[in-house]
Amino acid sequence: MSDKRRVGIMGGTFDPVHYGHLVCAEEARWQFELDEVVFVPTGQPWQKREVSPAEDRYMLTMLATAPNTKFSVSRIDIDREGPTYTRDTLQKFKEFYGEDVDLFFITGADAVLDILTWKDPDEVLELAQLIAASRPEYDLSKLDQIKVAGRMKTMQIPALSISSTDIRERVKTGRPIRYLVPREVLRYIEERALYSSFSKGPR
Ligand code: NAP
Repeated sequence: MSDKRRVGIMGGTFDPVHYGHLVCAEEARWQFELDEVVFVPTGQPWQKREVSPAEDRYMLTMLATAPNTKFSVSRIDIDREGPTYTRDTLQKFKEFYGEDVDLFFITGADAVLDILTWKDPDEVLELAQLIAASRPEYDLSKLDQIKVAGRMKTMQIPALSISSTDIRERVKTGRPIRYLVPREVLRYIEERALYSSFSKGPR
């Protein structure tokens, strides 16, 4: 292995961040011998659904990652105007760290499946190796369709059975999310009444 610094870039919407994401980042750090993992919440939507304000998603990610000294959070996508393109994100990281770094872009397998529709996919694959994380029941053979010339690794993470969609739905219907997210994340969601209408039932 080269003696370059190895940095994981954990890209996601994180609406909200949950234990599945944290387990995934920690597993990637260990499996791929990363020196650090930088969480990068996406900017404001260009996509399919409304997402919570970027500042809330940033704060949630900060609160969740604070106890781990190998984790940090970047505002790079939040502060950049316009759509979030991974190519631009990775280029900025390359500029910041210089050539002496190997970047690993970690994200969900479903997101990776769409990589050929991303902006400049070849450049993305040149800038970073991809780590596609999935839930155990996920059919990884789907990823064989995309030819990425040895630049992609897969990782099955049982904890990714936790999903942001389910958490938002739970909050909306007053079901508990304790033990699915760190306590500080739970508190922030309650204080900011995210994903409401939020019934304050017993939890
Ligand atoms: P998404 O469609 O919201 O998520 C797809 C699936 O992956 C969901 O099951 C999601 O679970 C999971 N997931 C998302 N991020 C993850 C992570 N870091 N680790 C493990 N699982 C994760 O995807 P997205 O959040 O919008 O986009 C993911 C990344 O791809 C972002 O960094 C985004 O900027 C990038 N992207 C780039 C382009 C482009 O360059 N044109 C286009 C699309 C996406 P949860 O819902 O539980 O998180």
